[in-house]
Amino acid sequence: MSYQHIFGPVPSRRLGISLGVDLVTHKICSLDCVYCECGKTTNLTLQRRAYVSFEAVKKELDHYWKHNEDPDYITFSGSGEPTLNQDLGRVIAYIKTQRPGIRVAVLTNSTLLNDPLIRQELALADLVVPSLDAVSKAIFIKLNRPCKDILVGDIIQGIQTFARQFTGKIWLEIFILPGINDTQEELGALKEVISSIDPEMVQLNTLDRPGTVSDIRPATMDELERVKEILNMDIIQIIARVTATKNTGRNRDMASAVLETIHRRPCTRDDLVAVLNADPAQMDTLLAALETQGRVEARQQARGVFYRTIK
Ligand code: SF4
Repeated sequence: MSYQHIFGPVPSRRLGISLGVDLVTHKICSLDCVYCECGKTTNLTLQRRAYVSFEAVKKELDHYWKHNEDPDYITFSGSGEPTLNQDLGRVIAYIKTQRPGIRVAVLTNSTLLNDPLIRQELALADLVVPSLDAVSKAIFIKLNRPCKDILVGDIIQGIQTFARQFTGKIWLEIFILPGINDTQEELGALKEVISSIDPEMVQLNTLDRPGTVSDIRPATMDELERVKEILNMDIIQIIARVTATKNTGRNRDMASAVLETIHRRPCTRDDLVAVLNADPAQMDTLLAALETQGRVEARQQARGVFYRTIK
């Protein structure tokens, strides 16, 4: 069976093995962010609909579960805004009934969080990753190009209310674009809002691939470090796959990252290259060294050679 609405699974450092579910078709979203890696939004809407039917997703999940090992997480993300699907709550409830051991994560652009029904649907998730890139209206419009009727103040209020009610984890994601949302003033305002939301973690991200607008560029690691310093909170993590300008200790860090990742679940060399944004040749050298040191072992399986830690 070829899947239309589920993808992966992919290994992730924070989530373990994560199976993706895409509840909207390309490209339905309430925003049209300049940095969007899925391309331009073709259906800019706030209208909730069954863009992908519950039955279609259920059929694919049932098939996946029957033929594969359960993933650690099922993550709602993909080529648009998952909360726009009116059956989001139904799908999460179905997963929780059928596979209570699988955790559920939802990546959302936060535009519908001021709707009590959506907050109620998300209550069943274990982790919600809401985005908030700007606090001021002008920057929000420039960066996120919202559907009309969306106000950044309502988004902030929606996240704050959701955070008060939600018992799971909240990791707030901020996408940094140099020269747009990284001014001292905007970051100061963002810091106040972050404090009021009190998430478990704040993830700083930036462009990985080209966005929809040509005159934007990714933040460098130094620029992200500056943002982190200005926000000055323990919960800030840089998750962007940018090349570090200071490479001291990178090999040691990469070895730890490899061991941490495969300790949770064995991975192929290609999985590790993808999830850790590593150089393929360096990964080969590192895996060979770890094998020689007796810290990992390689086993041939159907999808390729899998590396696991030796206990
Ligand atoms: S919210 Fe996400 S999917 Fe929608 S336009 Fe922005 S980056 Fe793309």
